[in-house]
Amino acid sequence: MTEVLNQLFIGGAWVDAADGATMPVDDPATGEILCHVADAGPKDAKLAEEAAVQAQQDWARTAPRARSEILRRAYELILERTDELAHLMTSEMGKPLAEARGEVAYAAEFFRWFSEEAVRIDGGCGTLPDGRNRMLLSRRPVGPCLLITPWNFPLAMGTRKIGPAIAAGCTMVLKPAPQTPLSSLALAGVLKEAGLPDGVLNVVTTSRAGEVCEPLLRGGRIRKLSFTGSTGVGRLLLAQCADTVVRTSMELGGNAPFIVFDDADLDVAVDGAMVAKMRNMGEACTAANRFFVHRSVADEFGRRLAERMGALVVGPGTREGVDVGPLIDAAGRAKVAELVADAVERGARVLVGGRTPEGAGCFYPPTVLADVDPGSRLMDTEIFGPVAAILTFDDEDEVLRRANDTQWGLVGYVFTQGLDRGLRVSEGLEVGMVGLNTGLVSNPAAPFGGVKQSGLGREGGRVGIEEFLEYQYVAVPVR
Ligand code: NAP
Repeated sequence: MTEVLNQLFIGGAWVDAADGATMPVDDPATGEILCHVADAGPKDAKLAEEAAVQAQQDWARTAPRARSEILRRAYELILERTDELAHLMTSEMGKPLAEARGEVAYAAEFFRWFSEEAVRIDGGCGTLPDGRNRMLLSRRPVGPCLLITPWNFPLAMGTRKIGPAIAAGCTMVLKPAPQTPLSSLALAGVLKEAGLPDGVLNVVTTSRAGEVCEPLLRGGRIRKLSFTGSTGVGRLLLAQCADTVVRTSMELGGNAPFIVFDDADLDVAVDGAMVAKMRNMGEACTAANRFFVHRSVADEFGRRLAERMGALVVGPGTREGVDVGPLIDAAGRAKVAELVADAVERGARVLVGGRTPEGAGCFYPPTVLADVDPGSRLMDTEIFGPVAAILTFDDEDEVLRRANDTQWGLVGYVFTQGLDRGLRVSEGLEVGMVGLNTGLVSNPAAPFGGVKQSGLGREGGRVGIEEFLEYQYVAVPVR
């Protein structure tokens, strides 16, 4: 592997934190420290903001084709370095290498997609209803942005924001999660190599997120916050953005229902469940959190799912053949274990897994629970681990009502062979995305995002760039 980047990236230069502070990055498979990275304070954040503000005007004037080509070059560089980036991601986050390689490809694809969007930013020209006045419409970048990302998809959550920001002509300060700073720093290295001008992207790694971000959001120079993380932190940041009317995009938590009807193809449903539940060890906002299975097929579905889950190989993500890596940290694992214990206390049957293993590393086994009581805590909490909780239902109206009975609305999964039913239930779900007979919805070309308290705005797709653009309308009377 080439040298691991571990300093702050400000104004195109690699620098230490002003006070020399550093923070450790742990390997969740062993609990050992991998390396130390710079631990930014408010002073460093201000320098990063200043660099972004200074670079904004020239960057906004840079030809869209030039912005596009930088993204395209970065896309190619990422793919060339797939193995290197995948190893880095696995070492700091834990996901198996095969999944890390998949995330590298997914992350790169956002750069390719937005390299294509950069040159398609349109405007307009029209006659107003009075027949005399004309309007000219143009699109301009919203301005310097603060991007805050979580640890679960260390590379893709970065490219999903950086790609459209670059395409739109915005400059940025990126604050990655403290558990996974290395992937973001590597990404900054790639973009520098691809020719991104100094100051367009600045990366501050920090263990003091609040101290570093709040002054930027309240300072009046940052014009946009794009946040991915939990709903609780999202609410707090929305409040901070209110005073200076900072525009926001919020990709927040989920509580996905996974509905299996009696006419579903159970092989397809179990395949879908394996993806919707086990992608990223269940540490995904899109993870199926509540399995509603029709009473007549619940036993068979549970048996088949438990068989597949029980056959997965758990171990360090760097080991070939491993399907399930460690959870992100001890606190994450303890939360999963507590949720399972609560469900079992309320009468759930453990079909497979359910016991925290001894030894080093934050491992938790793939677990299937049947007969879960609807009052269990995991019904209303993101499990964020490899635990499938199965409940039964009897009819369509009932399951829709129960599936929608949550503050969240990110994604839902529906399994049925009836087209009418599939579309009716998809339309009835209060969510931003639906997987109809599939357990995977994420795709850079599709608008990703949720309704209710799962977020505001969309990332990816044709609309992804809109989040980083403003309209300007010029009124022109023709006399
Ligand atoms: P989190 O605790 O909300 O943290 C997300 C990011 O926000 C981290 O970088 C975190 O840094 C930072 N942060 C926390 N408090 C902050 C503050 N006061 N000011 C500024 N930044 C702050 O979430 P997480 O545990 O990392 O990630 C898991 C969550 O993300 C889940 O809820 C998941 O559903 C959600 N997620 C959503 C999507 C989506 O697209 N909808 C995608 C992936 C993940 P610190 O850790 O240092 O506090």
